[in-house]
Parts: sequence; C-alpha cells; structure tokens
Amino acid sequence: MTSELATVIASHGCRFCGSSLRRTFVDLGMSPLCETYPTAADFRSGEVYYPLRVYTCEECFLVQLEEYQKAETIFSDYPYFSSYSDSWLKHAERYCDKMTQRFGLDDKSFVVEVASNDGYLLQYFVRQQIPVLGIEPAANVAKAAIEKGVPTRVRFFGTQVARELVKERGGADLVVGNNVLAQVPQLNDFVEGLRILLKPTGVLTLEFPHLLRLMEGNEFDTIYHEHFSYFSLLTTWRILEAHGMKVFDVEELRTHGGSLRVYACRAENTTLSVETSVDRLIETEKKAGLSSPEGYQRFAEQVKETKFAFVEFLLSAARQGKKVVGYGAPGKSATLLHYCGIGKDLIEYTVDRNPYKQGRFLPGSHIPIFHPDRIRETRPDYVVIFPWNLRDEITENVAFIREWGGKFIVPIPRLEVY
Ligand SMILES: [Zn+2]
Repeated sequence: MTSELATVIASHGCRFCGSSLRRTFVDLGMSPLCETYPTAADFRSGEVYYPLRVYTCEECFLVQLEEYQKAETIFSDYPYFSSYSDSWLKHAERYCDKMTQRFGLDDKSFVVEVASNDGYLLQYFVRQQIPVLGIEPAANVAKAAIEKGVPTRVRFFGTQVARELVKERGGADLVVGNNVLAQVPQLNDFVEGLRILLKPTGVLTLEFPHLLRLMEGNEFDTIYHEHFSYFSLLTTWRILEAHGMKVFDVEELRTHGGSLRVYACRAENTTLSVETSVDRLIETEKKAGLSSPEGYQRFAEQVKETKFAFVEFLLSAARQGKKVVGYGAPGKSATLLHYCGIGKDLIEYTVDRNPYKQGRFLPGSHIPIFHPDRIRETRPDYVVIFPWNLRDEITENVAFIREWGGKFIVPIPRLEVY
C-alpha cells in the first residue's frame, strides 16, 4: 500500500449534523481495509491497519465510523460484483417489477441507480424497455454493466453529477440507491444530489441495513471501514427532511441481515400520501431505545460474548484435529476474523464464487481464497458460513458436505453448528 493510499482524513464531527462525537457504540480494534484482497506478492509491502471504532452521535443518533480513507481509494477497483449472488438477483428483479407497477413506469420514464454496480438491477428495467442510467464509481464493475447493455457512467454521485444529469436528461422518475448510503463520505452532498435528481413527482427508494436489526441480530461483522454510517429510520427521516424530502413509505426486508427500503419524495409533492408503515416503525425504534443515547449502550457487551463463543469452539475443534474452512470472502469476514484474532491456524482456507477473489487472500489474516470446488476435494469437518445473510442458499449449495459428515458453522447472531 502506498503512502498516498494511507491518507488520513479523520475528523471528529458527525457526518450529518457536525456535532462532536464522544460516545463509543462499539470498539472492534484494528483491522485492514476489508475489501482489499491482497495477492501473495502484496504481502511484501505490508498492510495498513485502521481503528474500527464506531461512535453514536448524541444529537442525531447517526452511528458512524470516522473516515480514515479517501473513498476514491476504496471504491476505484472494487471487487464486489452483485451478480454473483442468486438471491440478490432475484431480489432486484422483484423490486423492478414492483416499482414498475406501483409507479406506472414505462418507455417514457427515466430510472437512475446510484452505485449501480454491475447492472444487476437496472438490467431488469432494460428488459422492460424502461430507459435507465447507472452511476458507478468503480470502473471495472461499471464495465461489466455496460457489457450487459446497461448504460453506466463512471462517477462518484453528488450534487455536481445530479445537476449535470438534470441539465442533460431532465429529472428522474425513480432514483434507486441500494446499499450505498452507508458508503458515502459526503453524506449531505450525496442526499442533496438525490433530491436535485428527482423530478417534482419522482420517487426515491433507498435500501440499507437497518441499524435496529444490526443491534438486535448482533451483526457487528457488518461494521467495516467501507461502511461509514449505520442508519435507523429515525435518523434517515431527519436527514431526508433536512434536504427537502419526506419519507412516505417504508418496508422491512430480509436482505443483508434485515434492511429497510425507504420511499421518499420531494417535501412539496402532495400526490403521495404517507403510509402508516412509517409511524409504526418510528414507534418501534423509539421503544427499542433508538431515540436516546442510553439505547445504544448494550451492544458492545453482546459483541464480546459472541467472540468468546466462536473462538472457544474453533480452539476446541483445532485441539481435536478437525479441519475447519470457510465459505465466502465477504467484507464482513474480515471484521469477524480480526476482532476475534483468528488466522490460518484455526480456519485453513475459504472459498468464493467470485473469480476476482480466487487465488487472493483475506486481508490481514491472509487466509487463502479458493474456488468452491476445493471443499469437495479436501472434505473438511466444518464449513464456517461467513455471509450468514445467504446461509440458506449456501447450506443448500454445499449440502454435499453431509456425505462425509461435514457440518456448518454460523457464528452470528450466536454460535450455531448444524
Ligand atoms: Zn449527528
């Protein structure tokens, strides 16, 4: 890693409201950037570790990391291709059908997705002849989208890009932001850009992991350097309101361990009535304590408990001479492994369907990543499922480990062996 990549731009102000950050949500120690997958040659140059300490803003309750790394560094060669997950593709297809029906989209509409990845979602609108445009900062991922017929621009989204687009193409009928809000360093500029991009009657949908589910499901491994912010509906409401928008509907989804799909429009748009779902969820969050600083305190304790149980299991398996391997190399595996201090001596290797990751290593722990066939070849006793949000899909796809008595391990929310 060059010194340029390690540019430190830490600040102590809240990313949304600017208040100073004093209250720790959880401290997960030090870890390298989890979406960089080094090759063996990279080991010689060493790796930079950053603190993974999360704060709760006492003013707006935005849970957030300090920013240590320039976003351009993280996302310019981003190895995450959405299309490698079957269930995520199905989710995207259902979404497109639903939006097309609910908001009457047709060949005269204009749909924009920010952080459109490899076109995994927009491709379904393209099939229905609905004009689309993807905005994607990672050039290698955008290239894959263009190859499948999804027009895509390689840009970081913000007010500047939004103004350019409106001038060029007019506003959008639907603006989609799936799993991007957490990764935005300039939150206010990004959200302001979303409003600018909307037609006066346009609809914005944002999907992001729900902070309430993260806390209740003990999903601390979804905290990593590339995810700067963690949102409740309460805080999201506040942020959108500050930028001239209003939330008119919300759905709770099972994706990524429990996400929200927030529907918003311009504040002055009176054609869309506010659904009861919004008040109901705000009430649920308040009851769970998310509107007071004290409500955020218990999380750190349950995280520690999870570490003890997982490490205890792996140590005892190692003493019995059992072979333990992993499945998947998602960003969350890095947080889990570093926080728990687990290396190759406890988990021999992992596998991933994404060819980009095969032949590389998990950051820091240097656990090697192979093609999934490796599991059948080496017949491990245990397979740790790192992307636990896809556990059903993986359990089914890798069910053949039962042939030799193999078992699955899922460490979160609490250790489960089955
Ligand atoms: Zn704040």
